[in-house]
Amino acid sequence: RLPEPTARGGRSRLVVLAGPTAVGKGTVAAHIKEHHPEIHLSVSATTRPPRPGEVEGEHYFFVDDAEFDRLIDAGELLEHATVHNAYRYGTPRTPIDEALAGGRTVLLEIDLQGARQVRKAAPDATLVFLLPPSWDELVNRLVGRGTEGEEERARRLKTARVELASQGEFDYRVVNDDVARAAAEVAGLAG
Ligand code: 5GP
Repeated sequence: RLPEPTARGGRSRLVVLAGPTAVGKGTVAAHIKEHHPEIHLSVSATTRPPRPGEVEGEHYFFVDDAEFDRLIDAGELLEHATVHNAYRYGTPRTPIDEALAGGRTVLLEIDLQGARQVRKAAPDATLVFLLPPSWDELVNRLVGRGTEGEEERARRLKTARVELASQGEFDYRVVNDDVARAAAEVAGLAG
């Protein structure tokens, strides 16, 4: 059974999915996008260059630093953060406002710094923390995907420890033991 939402949040159709590195946020979000087309998955802006197969406007809006600054100055980002000390990421505000106004549920897949900013900007937002089944499993997933070198992995795991300690700030915790199950649980939280 799911816990009742806290007094702080969890009452709105704006749902934030956050969690530590390699926990599978992107995979869960992609599963929700495929199986719950009624939910609007926010597309972030980022200064990171596209990876092979990533499509402009579908996975991200790929922008340079000057354009990212312009978006901030114009107040067009609901939240923004530098993630893993590398690139900048931010959530465009207008598509979210439009989707909410149209009665749709909106899902943001962002990092913890971003989740905290959304909590401030939209206190009613539903904050979901995605957990690994265990610490060892998180390490396995990070090593297994092989996208980071030894040093970067160590740095991300250090951040993950700190982030896991912050899970109490969230309205709900969902364990990503199985992608379809976790995705169904997250989709079910969207009011
Ligand atoms: P990646 O570069 O692997 O696609 O994403 C790296 C990290 O950036 C992930 O933890 C993802 O959740 C986070 N991220 C993606 N978009 C946003 C955003 O708009 N805002 C924030 N704060 N984090 C984001």
